Amino acid sequence: MRQIVIIGSGPAGYTAAIYAARANLKPLLIASSVEAGGELMNTTEVENYPGFPDGIQGPELMEHFQAQAERFGTEVVYDDVTEVDLTGEVKKITLGSGETHEALSVVAATGSAYRKLGLESEDRLSGHGVSWCATCDGFFFRQKTIAVVGGGDSAMEEATFLTRFADKVYVIHRKDTLRASKIMQDRAFANEKIEFLWNSTVEEILGGDKVNGVVLKDTVSGETRELALDGLFIAIGNDPRVHLFHKQLDLTIEGTIAVDGRSSRTNLPGVFAAGDVIDPTYRQAITAAASGTVAALDAEHYLATLPEQLLAPAAGESIAAASPAAGSTVTSDGQLVASA
Ligand code: NDP
Repeated sequence: MRQIVIIGSGPAGYTAAIYAARANLKPLLIASSVEAGGELMNTTEVENYPGFPDGIQGPELMEHFQAQAERFGTEVVYDDVTEVDLTGEVKKITLGSGETHEALSVVAATGSAYRKLGLESEDRLSGHGVSWCATCDGFFFRQKTIAVVGGGDSAMEEATFLTRFADKVYVIHRKDTLRASKIMQDRAFANEKIEFLWNSTVEEILGGDKVNGVVLKDTVSGETRELALDGLFIAIGNDPRVHLFHKQLDLTIEGTIAVDGRSSRTNLPGVFAAGDVIDPTYRQAITAAASGTVAALDAEHYLATLPEQLLAPAAGESIAAASPAAGSTVTSDGQLVASA
């Protein structure tokens, strides 16, 4: 049994792993099978991560995170968690492979997932001109006309990046002002290949086997019109990835995992949460990393309150092999129960 299992491999997950590993907790970190590394894997230049004055590519930054976590003994598994049972003192984490891990503490650092427009045509044309990742797919749109939906930093970043390939990039935004930071706005405004379509929503994505346009609606006049396009990038934000924890962890009104004050403590003892999955506001790599630190420290403090015997088994060893704590018994299925 593990002392700590960390679910998620973005800045929050790896930072929790660095701290937990340095505390000699021998963490197991479950990275996703296909999306390991989190959102920074889909980013180009990261200019605002302290310590890199000349900027660093997102994937390279994640390689550094992982190397640092592994240097202190973090074990990384590339698989998806399919089910968790976090309610008992011994937590169970089941992977896509069918393998189950037991742990005394868990850090949920599952991040967030791309938000969708909610159109049938969006799913149908996904991978056929509809994309959520400019760095992954921008290359396919050399000398094309494309559009980015959204008015935040992601949309500005994607639009600016896509001008490396496309001849023309529209930004379709539902309001007449942007949510993006001033520096990102200014960069997009100064780019001659970018044209803003204000007060506009995408009503439909057109195309049989690949995108050839969209139907736009003017949110002020209500009029609709068609715009010819070769591709559509959707950058309208993210939703916290909480599906694994439904009915176990309390959520906030924003849909993030609820934590106790400035801590990472969830409603379940031994379960901590960090990164974008608890943060509806800041959602930066640096804030996620800091939050991973908090989770590892909270987990360390929690583990220190557990009976000595529970902590004794080495990584991979079953709890049943360890002596139960004074005043408690370990049942055949690994649960710790108080003795009469
Ligand atoms: P945001 O939530 O900041 O912005 C989402 C944008 O999409 C908003 O303009 C919003 O419109 C629009 N939107 C949301 N839902 C819909 C919808 N259904 N239809 C049409 N438009 C919609 O998300 P981002 O991904 O841009 O940014 C998330 C966080 O990551 C932010 O904190 C941001 O600062 C950060 N970030 C930082 C970067 C950097 O510094 N290099 C790069 C990328 C992201 P409205 O404005 O009307 O609500």
